[in-house]
Amino acid sequence: MNTSNQTIKTDLKNFTLSALEHYLNLQKKERFRALQLFKWIYQQDAHSFEEMTNISKAFRAELAEKAFISNLEPETIEEGSDGTRKYLFNLGDGNAVESVLIPIEGRNTLCISSQVGCAMACEFCLTGTFRLTRNLTTSEIVNQIMAVKRDLLNNPPSPLTGESGFDDGEDSDDVQPESPAAIRNIVLMGMGEPLHNLDNVIPAIQIMIDGNGLQLSNRRVTVSTCGLVPEMDRLGREIPNVNLAVSLNATTDELRDRIMPVNRSYSLKELLKACKKFPLPGRRKITFEYVMLGGINDSIDDAKRLLKLISDIPNKVNLIPFNEHEGCAFKSPSQRAIDAFHKYLIDRHVTVITRDSRGGDISAACGQLKGKLEKGKKSD
Ligand code: SAH
Repeated sequence: MNTSNQTIKTDLKNFTLSALEHYLNLQKKERFRALQLFKWIYQQDAHSFEEMTNISKAFRAELAEKAFISNLEPETIEEGSDGTRKYLFNLGDGNAVESVLIPIEGRNTLCISSQVGCAMACEFCLTGTFRLTRNLTTSEIVNQIMAVKRDLLNNPPSPLTGESGFDDGEDSDDVQPESPAAIRNIVLMGMGEPLHNLDNVIPAIQIMIDGNGLQLSNRRVTVSTCGLVPEMDRLGREIPNVNLAVSLNATTDELRDRIMPVNRSYSLKELLKACKKFPLPGRRKITFEYVMLGGINDSIDDAKRLLKLISDIPNKVNLIPFNEHEGCAFKSPSQRAIDAFHKYLIDRHVTVITRDSRGGDISAACGQLKGKLEKGKKSD
């Protein structure tokens, strides 16, 4: 038992702007203080209250007694031959997560994690084999972005060519290379099932898209789910303008039940119904991700069924050839199967991108993230 009167300090990075206003209000502080702090934290990347020179010394001291501003520094940064960067973050409690930066044509896409491990247990996914250790906090989610932004400022990537498959659906003539140090798209496609941690993911997205926060456009934030139907409804209600990606991966309940246990709770029919009613603004579409498993779901019959399933939903398709990993019996599809599947859909006017396996040489590709600290660094 801790008998000292040490108080547990509050991490201000767990707060959206309105939560910060509430927190300060409880301490009888003026409302504008929240905005001041919020801007210091997200626009100036302040790590401590001392830096906040437009705030009185007395108030800074008071804050420092009760609160702190958390931060993450990458433990390692690996760069693949294709320019993909993988960041490993030590969370300080023996756990670690990874984020992956994909720089293409001056548009940087950052793939972030939402949980340590994952409870969904999809048969083909490496992260799933570790099961869920814990949820990430809101601050741990936004701190991945802030750490990568800092790295990009110090070390901007050279622009690559190609398609990321994470595009935001805007007209392609707006392909203006942005500053190589800017993050354009955020995808919650790293470790974890973001809809299984909505209590922390929703405030994190609010901070990302807040004009006083990380200032990302909501059309450039994508949440990817294996198909947790009630949580899809909640996400749509609470952040209606975010992009949704759904990992479909199978076109029959029989196969989906087998490779994605979540399907035993929410069948394809229920999942597609939830997609249909998901609030999409304007011309936006739901991205259907489809991991192609060699000889399992990569036939033209599968492509036909896929098209039928999604045809009454504004859609685009991301084909992800399976990335093999040790201990998993699935095989990558043949190039012929990929091309034929892709062509079948394109010929029927579906927007399809076959995601090339970026970052394969540094195990940063889809389904390869495990977030392990090197031996000897972890105290287990
Ligand atoms: N839990 C969320 C987000 C993380 S997975 C989801 O399921 O959508 C991100 C994508 O990687 C998903 O579409 C998933 O189906 C895919 N994926 C998982 N393992 C893979 C592998 N070994 N090869 C290729 N894609 C994989």
